[in-house]
Amino acid sequence: MYGSLSDKISESFKRLRGKGLLRESDVDLTVSEIRRALIDADVALPVVREFTQAVKTKAYGATRTQSLNPGQQVVKIVHDELVEILGGEARDLHFAQRGPTVFMLAGLQGAGKTTLAGKLAKYLAEDNKRVLLVASDLQRPNAVTQLQVVGERAGATVWAPEPGNGVGDPVNVARSGLDHAIRNGYDVMIVDTAGRLGVDEELMEQARQIRDAVNPHEIMFVLDAMIGQDAVHTATAFRDGVGFTGVVLSKLDGDARGGAALSVRGVTGAPILFASTGEGMDDFERFYPDRMASRILDMGDVLSLIEQAQKAFDEKESQAAAEKLMAGNFTLDDFLQQMQQIRKLGSMKKLLKMLPGAGQFREQLENFDEREIDRIEAIVRSMTPAERADLKILNGSRRLRIAKGSGTTVQDVNGLVQRFEAAQKMMKGGGLPGMGGMAGMPGM
Ligand code: GDP
Repeated sequence: MYGSLSDKISESFKRLRGKGLLRESDVDLTVSEIRRALIDADVALPVVREFTQAVKTKAYGATRTQSLNPGQQVVKIVHDELVEILGGEARDLHFAQRGPTVFMLAGLQGAGKTTLAGKLAKYLAEDNKRVLLVASDLQRPNAVTQLQVVGERAGATVWAPEPGNGVGDPVNVARSGLDHAIRNGYDVMIVDTAGRLGVDEELMEQARQIRDAVNPHEIMFVLDAMIGQDAVHTATAFRDGVGFTGVVLSKLDGDARGGAALSVRGVTGAPILFASTGEGMDDFERFYPDRMASRILDMGDVLSLIEQAQKAFDEKESQAAAEKLMAGNFTLDDFLQQMQQIRKLGSMKKLLKMLPGAGQFREQLENFDEREIDRIEAIVRSMTPAERADLKILNGSRRLRIAKGSGTTVQDVNGLVQRFEAAQKMMKGGGLPGMGGMAGMPGM
C-alpha cells in the first residue's frame, strides 16, 4: 500500500535536491504536487487543506541550518506534518483500574471486527492477560462460529448464546458476558458486535445499547482501509451514532490508496490504535504515526538517520569534509575518518537500509558484506599518508605492497581505488546533497 502516493511524493521532492537556497515558488510547486498526490490517494479534502497549509507555512520559513539543507528540511517538515495528521504520539490502550477491562468493537460488516477480536486476544494473552471474547454479533449467520474459530486460534474463551435458544439478544449476551468475566476473574473482555453493509440507524441503536450495557473502556472503530472516500462518511456516522475512543485500520496489506489512514484521525479526532495487515492472527501491529509517515514517504528511516548523523558527527568536521568533498579534494584519509564516524552509528547494512530508495536495492543490501568495510579499512591503513592523499602515485609495486600489508589482493586494492575515483568524480559533478561523507562512499 501507499506505493503510488509514496512515488508521487518522492517525485515532488526531486526539485528540491541540492538547492542551497529555496524559493517560495519551489515550495509552492512541491506542495501542490503533494496536494494532488494526497487527493488521488482519497485523503479527505479538509485534511489535505490543513496539511498543505501547515507544510507551506513552515517550509517558507526553512532556512539553511548547518546539518540539513533546505530540501531536506522540507522533507522533514512534510514528514512531521504527516506524523501530526496521523495522530502524533502512539496512544496506549486504556485499561480498567479494577475488574475486567471492556473493549467493544464496532464497524461495518466485513470491516474485520471478528478477525480483530482474535488478534487482540492473542496480543493481550501474550501480555499474560486472560481474555474473554463475547459474541454479540448475532446478525451474520456465521459470526458466532467464526468468533469461536479465531478464539481457538488465539487461545481465548468465547462467550456465546446457548445454541438452540433462538437467535438471542446481543445486548443480553454482552451483559451476561460481563457477569461471566467478573465472576471468573477475566482481565479483558472483547465484545464483537454486528455490522451491516451500510450505516443505518438500527445498527447504531443496537451498538448504543451494547455500549450502555457494558460501559467499555475502549470502543474501537474498525475501518477497512480499502473503502477509500467512504471512510470519512462511515467514520463520522459511527462517531456520531455510537462514539469511539480509537480506530483500528484493517486491510492495510491490500492495495488501498491510503486515504482512510490519513483522513480518519483528522476527521474524527480519535487516535489510530492498531493496524491490521492480513488474515493471520499475527498480522497486527500497534500503530506508530512516525513509522507510518516514514513508510508513506518511502524514505526508509531517513529522518532518524539524519538525526542520528547529527548526533554522531562532529558538526565542524563533517562540514569541512563535505566542503572538501564538493570541491573534489576529498582524500582517502578523509574517507577513513568519515567511515569511522559512520561506524559509530551502527551496522553498515542497517545504515544503508535507512537511506532513501533503499527498497530498490534490497537484494544488494541483503548481500552486503560487513567485512567489506573491514577490508576497505585495512587497505587504507596500509597506505602511506602520501598515497592516501594522491592515488595517482600508486604504481604496481605499491599496490602489491598494500595488498600484502592489508591481507587482501591487488584486485581488491584496484577495485577500491577505482570506485573511490569514480565517487570523487561524481561528487565534483554535484552528487547527493548534504549527506556529507556518506555520499563519497565507494560502492554506493
Ligand atoms: P467483520 O464482519 O467486521 O467481523 O469482518 P471479518 O473479521 O469477518 O473480516 C472480513 C474479511 O476480511 C474476512 O475474510 C477476513 O479474513 C478479512 N480480513 C480481516 N482483517 C484483514 C486484514 O487486515 N487484511 C486482510 N487482507 N484481510 C482481512
